[in-house]
Amino acid sequence: MEQRLFVYNTLTRTKEEFKALNAPHVGMYVCGPTVYSDVHLGNCRTYISFDLMFRYLTHLGYKVRYVRNITDAGHLEGDADTGEDKIAKKAKLAQLEPMEIVQQYTLGFREMMQIFNTWPPSIEPTATGHIIEQIEMVKCILQAGYAYEVDGTVYFDVEKYNNRQDYGILSGRKLDDLLTNTRTLGGQDEKQGRLDFALWIKARPEHLMKWPSPWGTGFPGWHLECSAMSQKYLGDHFDIHGGGLDLIPTHHTNEIAQSVACCGTNPATYWIHTNMLTVNGQKMSKSLGNSFLPEELFTGNNTILQKGYSPMTVRFFMLQAHYRSTLDFSNEAMEASEKGFKRLMNAYSLLNGLKASSTTEVEVQPLIDRCYEALNDDFNSPVLIAEVFEATRIINSVHDNKLKIDETNLLLLKELMQHFVTDILGLKNEQIESNELPAVLDFITNLRSEAKQNRDYATSDKIRNGLQQIGFQLKDSKEGTTWSKI
Ligand code: AMP
Ligand code: ZN
Repeated sequence: MEQRLFVYNTLTRTKEEFKALNAPHVGMYVCGPTVYSDVHLGNCRTYISFDLMFRYLTHLGYKVRYVRNITDAGHLEGDADTGEDKIAKKAKLAQLEPMEIVQQYTLGFREMMQIFNTWPPSIEPTATGHIIEQIEMVKCILQAGYAYEVDGTVYFDVEKYNNRQDYGILSGRKLDDLLTNTRTLGGQDEKQGRLDFALWIKARPEHLMKWPSPWGTGFPGWHLECSAMSQKYLGDHFDIHGGGLDLIPTHHTNEIAQSVACCGTNPATYWIHTNMLTVNGQKMSKSLGNSFLPEELFTGNNTILQKGYSPMTVRFFMLQAHYRSTLDFSNEAMEASEKGFKRLMNAYSLLNGLKASSTTEVEVQPLIDRCYEALNDDFNSPVLIAEVFEATRIINSVHDNKLKIDETNLLLLKELMQHFVTDILGLKNEQIESNELPAVLDFITNLRSEAKQNRDYATSDKIRNGLQQIGFQLKDSKEGTTWSKI
């Protein structure tokens, strides 16, 4: 069922010809995080992989509508339909409103995505903002005859669905195998079939996040939100639906069943699943206790880590593996990525200073073609990076006067680095350029002035002394404060 994605091949059609086709639209839905805790590095791998796809399809001229949801209700502890909502549980522990938890972790997630230089999605819908759409979808599935209600909870009838459709189409598993391998879970006796899952769940009185519905007060099942929101923003059928491959057996399998039952079609042409970030061969996950936060990787503040690495080094490390392969985290691998990334950025910084010759000993177009070929083959980022390193070899050789390049090929080389390194791989130089420093110092000086105005002398002194220690002096006058180098 899962198909490999071959995107439009730039080798057989020019970008201009492609654009003349009237910029076809691409609809892409990626399952977003459940905002009850900080995202770990494994989650970031998945979103960085989809960012590469979003960037590449946009680069090719597609008009991409990228929808990535925020799960802020309905995701219960475990995969069963009983248990506590993850967000409500955290809210109780922290003595906060569930929506305070949602806000805190949504902001943290967005900030982390920005630190990794991922583009924000076109639409970021929330489950709580789409309760009406979810209720409508439950009604639709009930009407189609694939669901039943028991005492305020509505279940999807998996066996009935499987009699007409293939429930295991995504995982390749047969219903009989699934039934044999599923334990009966306590507290779900009201279900008719062991694999049936809840579309709408009756809320117990103590449940915090609940809404009125035709079946009484309750809340939507986790799988339903993605079906309802993807349909709302991308239609019954769209191009790409993605997430981590741990979502295949339950979440995405159930999403397909819901959409087929309600809309009569599998929602996506391509199901794309990213493989897992592992630590010593084991999936990185909060429940296994082997996860660490991106901040810990940046500071090196975790016992697993020998030192800290910059966000772009981490992004580069992730893109060095193909999204369908596992990626094992180790200090050695990070060390190698740091070296590789520095090499790449050093070459990039030499590019503008290169001088063209009247003749050329290198042709850059075949290298550009190979970069496209790599990406067109299911977004093969490791092969792309190998080709980009060929470009850095050319840059270094020209810089060392060991290779001649003419004006045309130098322009192509610049285009290659801009398109593939900056625009598509999303990598940027993290060194502060000397011409950016004054703006940073102005900003800090203004912060200190604000602190002083607010009579926060502790902060104001801290900033002045801190700047002094790194070689900058602040001078106060009637006109304001200015900085200078000591
Ligand atoms: P969650 O918030 O747990 O639903 O996860 C958000 C996304 O991260 C989902 O698409 C998961 O499949 C994905 N994910 C979870 N753990 C990992 C991991 N170790 N490596 C890569 N992706 C992961
Ligand atoms: Zn989803």
